[in-house]
Amino acid sequence: MTAHRIRARKPATEPAPRIEHDEAVVSSFLSDAAHVPGGFAAGVAFPRSEAEVASLIVGATTVLAVGAQSSLTGGATPRGEVILSTRALTSIGPPANGQVRVSVGVALSLLQRSLASSGLYYPPVPTYDGAFVGGTIATNAAGPATFKYGSTRRWVDAVTVVLASGDVLDINRGAVTASPDGWFEIERESGGLLRVPVPTYVMPDVPKLSAGYYARPGMDLIDLFIGSEGTLGVVTEATLRTVPKPRRSMALVCCSSDSQAIVLTDRLRQEASSAWAGRGPLDVAAIEFMDARSLRAVPEDSFARAGVTRPSGESVMLLVQIEHGGDEAAPLERLQAVLGSLGIEDDPSLAVPGDDRGAERLFNLRESVPASVNAIVAASKAAHPEVEKTAGDMVVPFARLSDSIALYRTAFERRGLEYAIWGHVSDGNLHPNVVPRTFEAVQRGREAILEIAREVIAMGGAPLAEHGVGRSALKQQLLRELYGDEGIEQMRRVKRALDPEEKLAPGVLFSSFRRTP
Ligand SMILES: Cc1cc2nc3c(=O)[nH]c(=O)nc-3n(C[C@H](O)[C@H](O)[C@H](O)COP(=O)(O)OP(=O)(O)OC[C@H]3O[C@@H](n4cnc5c(N)ncnc54)[C@H](O)[C@@H]3O)c2cc1C
Repeated sequence: MTAHRIRARKPATEPAPRIEHDEAVVSSFLSDAAHVPGGFAAGVAFPRSEAEVASLIVGATTVLAVGAQSSLTGGATPRGEVILSTRALTSIGPPANGQVRVSVGVALSLLQRSLASSGLYYPPVPTYDGAFVGGTIATNAAGPATFKYGSTRRWVDAVTVVLASGDVLDINRGAVTASPDGWFEIERESGGLLRVPVPTYVMPDVPKLSAGYYARPGMDLIDLFIGSEGTLGVVTEATLRTVPKPRRSMALVCCSSDSQAIVLTDRLRQEASSAWAGRGPLDVAAIEFMDARSLRAVPEDSFARAGVTRPSGESVMLLVQIEHGGDEAAPLERLQAVLGSLGIEDDPSLAVPGDDRGAERLFNLRESVPASVNAIVAASKAAHPEVEKTAGDMVVPFARLSDSIALYRTAFERRGLEYAIWGHVSDGNLHPNVVPRTFEAVQRGREAILEIAREVIAMGGAPLAEHGVGRSALKQQLLRELYGDEGIEQMRRVKRALDPEEKLAPGVLFSSFRRTP
């Protein structure tokens, strides 16, 4: 039977870890992958145990937990807090019953290597696999294969969380759910009860969402912490579910236009559904989209390294990840048949199962799209320091994909903006990116993204699919567009209940309600 009340426990008693003030050390933690300038910190600490995490939190005024700092939202950029680096929390337990217990400072790439030695795999990996387990839980990260496997939330069976008070919660999925009138209750170890209200806004029905606190009637307490971006507690350990490591192939397919790529994606999604129901061989786990503008941003040598000829004109590319059961040939034969039926005559570039190098080369070509756009933004920034990455993280119901791409293009082109669109098309999750050369373009780009977000919400989608909200003013505005002022106020009530002094990640998700750090 589930309860809506959980009892916190006291951590072991250990002194807080040393807070490092050395500028050379601290300066390497002042920014994340969003490259927002102006990060500053009261120091950085590297706790090695839950007890050290708790002592650090209790003793500090404000704390920002960070993992690999690959956040694209500025959420892992400090604004005066003590930085709690999780990188010394690195234990990986032996896998058992399809689960593995890990500390949060483990990078996903390392976790995968460790699991691979037992023939296992952790599916919800973002495109950047250097991200830490804790960071991916805190942002409910998703990635290409969300299409088949769902986002991080679905794979987390238990977490241990240190609250702002220093109390520790061991939360097992299924053990604590919200009361019928919408509350959780936490019995503090020192006595006293924290009552945490469940927000009542309705989340959009999309395959991935990283947009503030999860909220549903009767929800599981674990889901409140997953995706809460370090604002409600610091996760120290998690129990993750795994699957037998799939054998994979990759196919890079060239399509003549957006519309051909959308038709092909739709067909491949249907093929995948049939395969999952045991009625076909083409088990597609992910499809990545790179539009013609994205491909034009990629330098020649990236194509050369991938062994791929640059497509011409308005051609777009899809990178299709296929999983193979026992059969090596049937899935690829079926793919060829699907391509043929749509009049796509060019042979795809293939990496067959076992050709890990080939798969990596094709994947690196996909990754060189954001890298190339980011390089252009960085070069513009050198001339105009206010220039910054200006990008959307939109998800729409798949039936609205075509409308959404048209919407992105119109919003940018009407403003005379340079742009590129890529992303996880099998989920309807694309990243429309402005390629700004001036600050003026950044401003027009923000305006376009806001307009796009409103339309995406009207389509039943969300403007915050996988990267989270962080401290980006634009993303915080998008969160407000999604749930309204009342929704933000409801999130603040959750925050106030668990962290009344705003000790943890103040200003992340929504502006600080007490003070600026
Ligand atoms: C090249 C590139 C590709 C990317 N691709 C994807 C993608 O496909 N899908 C996707 O979802 N994201 C993607 N991202 C974004 C990023 O990788 C994810 O958001 C990732 O989950 C962040 O993990 P991290 O360890 O770097 O966390 P950080 O960036 O260090 O932190 C992210 C947030 O989590 C909080 N946090 C970190 N650790 C903890 C903890 N232990 N307890 C509580 N809070 C914590 C931080 O305070 C911060 O708010 C990409 C980023 C890059 C640079």
